[in-house]
Amino acid sequence: MSNPLLSDWATPFEIAPFDLIDDAHFAPAFDEALQMARQDVREIAEQPEKPSFANTIEALEASGDRLDKVLSVFFTVAGADSNAERQKLQREFGPKLAAYSSEVTGNKSLFQRVQSLWEARDTLDLTDEEARLLMLTHRRFVRAGAALEGQAEARMREIMSRLAELGTQFSQNLLADEAEWFMELDEQALENLPDFLVDAARSAGREKGVEAPVITLSRSLVVPFLQFSERRDLRERAFRAWEARGAMGGETDNRAITAEILRLRQERAQLLGYESFAAYKLETEMAKTPERVRDLLMQVWEPACAQAEKDAAILTEMMQADGINGELRPWDWRYYAEKRRLAEHDLDEAALKPYLTLDNMIAAAFGVANRLFGLEFQPLDIALYHPDCRAWEVTRNGRHVAVFIGDYFARASKRSGAWCSAMRGQAKQPKVQGPVVINVCNFAKGEPALLGYDDARTLFHEFGHALHHLLSDVNYESISGTSVARDFVELPSQLYEHWLEVPEVLETYARHYRTGEAMPRELLDKMLKAANFDQGFQTVEYVASAMVDLAFHEGDAPDDPMTKQRETLEKMGMPSAITMRHATPHFAHVFSGDGYSSGYYSYMWSEVMDADAFAAFEAGPFDEDAAKSLETHILSRGGSEDPEALYTAFRGRLPGVEALLKGRGLAA
Ligand SMILES: [Zn+2]
Repeated sequence: MSNPLLSDWATPFEIAPFDLIDDAHFAPAFDEALQMARQDVREIAEQPEKPSFANTIEALEASGDRLDKVLSVFFTVAGADSNAERQKLQREFGPKLAAYSSEVTGNKSLFQRVQSLWEARDTLDLTDEEARLLMLTHRRFVRAGAALEGQAEARMREIMSRLAELGTQFSQNLLADEAEWFMELDEQALENLPDFLVDAARSAGREKGVEAPVITLSRSLVVPFLQFSERRDLRERAFRAWEARGAMGGETDNRAITAEILRLRQERAQLLGYESFAAYKLETEMAKTPERVRDLLMQVWEPACAQAEKDAAILTEMMQADGINGELRPWDWRYYAEKRRLAEHDLDEAALKPYLTLDNMIAAAFGVANRLFGLEFQPLDIALYHPDCRAWEVTRNGRHVAVFIGDYFARASKRSGAWCSAMRGQAKQPKVQGPVVINVCNFAKGEPALLGYDDARTLFHEFGHALHHLLSDVNYESISGTSVARDFVELPSQLYEHWLEVPEVLETYARHYRTGEAMPRELLDKMLKAANFDQGFQTVEYVASAMVDLAFHEGDAPDDPMTKQRETLEKMGMPSAITMRHATPHFAHVFSGDGYSSGYYSYMWSEVMDADAFAAFEAGPFDEDAAKSLETHILSRGGSEDPEALYTAFRGRLPGVEALLKGRGLAA
């Protein structure tokens, strides 16, 4: 039988034929595609012709295209719809891919070609984009250790392969802890919980195969439970289990893994001649140095902490009025904050939900993209990897732009969080290809599915990333879409969240699922005002995580990361009723791979820019000139230019921290 992963895909828009692919196809396709990629690279390295941009840099860009296709399918399902077989394959592929990648960057004749082009760059008559691709390729080789020799080189290979293994193990342990734990709710525990939460808990119970409604460790269930449950004992139980993910002892415990990862990262940085992993990591970012990061975070920490302490005093009083003495604990904060929100803003989160159906919010995200950029979305009936997935063809002026896929519901086989990835990136070289972009979320199912305001914001956020891919207009796939510096990549996504706050958007799209009525203006106003609520808490839990991440990667790797975490938080003066948004044993951003390691700060770095960028829409939120400029200078440019230059071209200057503090209601 032929393997569909290795054939040409005669499907609409050459989407992977998911209905023909089963798990048995992955391993043989992976092995063969890896061989083909090796062959491509060998031919480039060993060709007799003198190095040229076309026969080396551009040829590298085109190499391994079959492998890219196989992996794009595999990683999509491994993240969004995993099973035991896929997890096993992921453990096998990880080290093989790391080995292949070191093989490419460790290929001496190939590196010599890249190096000679780099040295001759001023004489090659390259376009700006070509020059950028050459710089990035050369830098990638050097940072991967291409210039290393002998023992150092061999050690680097070992480190990279071990790190890949550890990252995969970290994620799988986390998934196992999240899948295993649940808490059944009896009739008494269900009393006074909002309907949406009861529905979601029932749906989760059915998925677990138990009669009772359950709370699982999915953020979309735990957080509302902590917000609404009057049962302090159950809140504590749920919170402690949620907090203990990755640190439950036994086979799935992640603590020893984090220590080993940090040690290996430090060794890797030092082999390459950097003082620390943070210094190595930040070289390619817009921030450039750990000092600039710390400086930014601490400017935000002080006012956020002051606000959180003020809020804690108010919440403690409320708790005491309930007859509970003693300290406000982390499982109390969200509950009393919700009560306070009701009292001060009279905003009942549960009253909002009937207006925020998933379908309405998808329509809102599409509608805004239509007004800003002229994009149109037509449902597509194609086979995907799970019945919950939906697809749309994206067009502009009648011309095909891209395919967009949404996979919105939580399930046990999906890793937690929300993300956007391109199953195929936009490119013009070596051939013209439109992007295939997917948004994956973890919203609770329901009839119909109703979102909280945070969920709706997540949907807009991920769709903002999707737009970065959809509007990409560069030559090379490796620098298209979201292939930009880590601390720049959240600009389009966080910027897009601002349109959810534009009153006319919700007036148009937030309609009651039963009556079809628009959200009452009063509720809308309250919701928008309340969006700034509890920002002390949210900023503190975020900055604490970002500072711990940075502390882990500066200087010597800690022997015991948990001790380092505690010391860092103590030194900062962490408020006792708030915990890190992601504690070390389940800090997947930092330990599942090294994408966000010493990079968790970047959400805030981007927020500095998104507040400032939204202010560029001076003629109103649908300012045509600003939308055009945003597309021209940022959304279409991918990583084809340095981010500081892109931002400056769009806005004429770089932003400061003031806009962010104002946006979070933390300005003095
Ligand atoms: Zn994001």
